[in-house]
Amino acid sequence: MKRWNGWGSEETIYPLPESAKDYLKGYIGEGCTAQDATLESMISQVPASRLNKHENVSIDAEERLRHACGQSLPDWISLRSGRIPAFPDGVFYPIQENQIQEIFTIAEDNHFILIPYGGGTSVLRHINPPESSSPVLTIDLSKLEKMLDLDEASLLATFEAGIRGPILESNLNKHGYTLGHFPQSFEYSTLGGWVATRSSGQQSFYYGRIEDLFRGGHLITPTGEISFPPFPASAAGPDLRHLVLGSEGRFGILTRGIVAIKPLPDFEEFYGYIFKEWQGGLTAVRKLISDHVQLSMIRLSDSQETQTTLLLSGQDNLVSWASYGLEKIGYDQKRCLLLVGVTGNRKTAVKAKETATRICRKSGGLSTGKFIGRSWQKSRFLVPYLRNSLCEAGYALDTLETAVPWNKVDQLKNELISAIETASEKLDEKVLVFGHLSHVYATGASIYITFIFRRTQDPDEMLQHWQVMKNAASEVILTWGGTISHQHGVGRDHADFLSREKGDLGVDLLTEIGKSLDPKNLLNPGVLFRGDKLQQLI
Ligand SMILES: Cc1cc2nc3c(=O)[nH]c(=O)nc-3n(C[C@H](O)[C@H](O)[C@H](O)COP(=O)(O)OP(=O)(O)OC[C@H]3O[C@@H](n4cnc5c(N)ncnc54)[C@H](O)[C@@H]3O)c2cc1C
Repeated sequence: MKRWNGWGSEETIYPLPESAKDYLKGYIGEGCTAQDATLESMISQVPASRLNKHENVSIDAEERLRHACGQSLPDWISLRSGRIPAFPDGVFYPIQENQIQEIFTIAEDNHFILIPYGGGTSVLRHINPPESSSPVLTIDLSKLEKMLDLDEASLLATFEAGIRGPILESNLNKHGYTLGHFPQSFEYSTLGGWVATRSSGQQSFYYGRIEDLFRGGHLITPTGEISFPPFPASAAGPDLRHLVLGSEGRFGILTRGIVAIKPLPDFEEFYGYIFKEWQGGLTAVRKLISDHVQLSMIRLSDSQETQTTLLLSGQDNLVSWASYGLEKIGYDQKRCLLLVGVTGNRKTAVKAKETATRICRKSGGLSTGKFIGRSWQKSRFLVPYLRNSLCEAGYALDTLETAVPWNKVDQLKNELISAIETASEKLDEKVLVFGHLSHVYATGASIYITFIFRRTQDPDEMLQHWQVMKNAASEVILTWGGTISHQHGVGRDHADFLSREKGDLGVDLLTEIGKSLDPKNLLNPGVLFRGDKLQQLI
């Protein structure tokens, strides 16, 4: 059973090692274990639905509770404190594509708000029902989960858009193929959600981001339907697939996606390199890119993240022996971990690994062999479960991310860390902040920041602490010309920042597209762009 107030399956537990607890206690103070709301108490709070009974629509209180929040920190605060601002009035599970147009008509006639819902793994409040005088219906696409076509000649596969990562992969793997899209939320996130948020998988360096993989599909909007044929390339005007990529459920519902696939790799391995300090790692990363070394993943952690990751691994004895040995040879507390992946044809992959080792060595990188890479690989989808254990130990964890050209990467990462630390100092709290480069390109990189701070007894105070740190970071990102999101999207949390990135005209353009595809503003109002002009139309 999926956790209702945390990440993942109730059966999976990733315990917080005692040594990590001690470290957090020393660094940011004793965790604050607040009394969490129970499932029963929450179910009893769900108000009566404003919807009439309808086939395929559930108005069950628990079902509505489970669709009221995503996975952002404010969502967790709401769920744990038992103060959820709004619940959907019902959850509709389409089992056929043609039911979507029908539900649009019903919604239009009855002034419903509709929320397209994939796996609910949004971290930016994309799927939360707004507080509204109109009934809110969540459209959960999880029953649209079939593989519809496999075109081996073209290396294309067609899926219904509600399909979750593991089911999609197992369908392809059976035939010897893979999509290779592995966001950390892989276990629960869906094809439609990936496209609608412009998601990026951990091995995007080899497989590409979702916008590279999404070759076509079908969008149903309140004003009609659009098919996107999977042309290998086209000069017929702007590419309309970009109406769906990043549309966050505002322009319609993607019912089918056609994706580019690859044969399953015959070799895959992940390797770790330790550098004496960040700059050595950065030089190696840039060289790996400029020399076009055929890696599938390049991920450079700063020294704080390197230390924290090792502590959280729970392998205390091994970590202290390794630290002892590394310090003896001059790799002290400033050491940084670089993880690289090699994927594909065995011969090419082995050669890429050898080249990577040579390049890393030149910048002082020490090869740790397969051990660290393999343990990363083993826990790549388990790490989010740590957030449950941290929360239970009295700590909150959140992440944020951006991307900038190389000439700003270094400074922006430092500025982000110090902005969050300064914001937290003003709150008279300590925060543990660290970062890594998660996705790298020829022209720049994404910066992924994690921050951990103490929970508080008062949920309003905790939300305020989070907001102050998050705002400080968002301001720094925009000041430095970074994008407000490299992979998580806009949702409600970033909507107010969008015009600073895209300009007023850019946001007006999105609003006008929304107006033409969804004139009654039925779909996900408030997400991506505010659409005040649209509100006036209702
Ligand atoms: C632990 C964790 C790790 C994560 N790791 C990553 C990562 O590595 N990379 C990454 O990119 N993101 C990551 N995310 C963020 C999140 O998983 C992605 O944004 C993901 O793409 C959302 O997919 P979903 O199916 O859960 O969509 P939801 O959260 O259900 O919805 C997200 C948005 O997409 C819209 N939507 C969903 N399906 C459709 C559809 N069929 N048609 C139209 N609109 C639709 C919704 O209306 C909403 O606006 C992570 C999140 C968590 C909690």
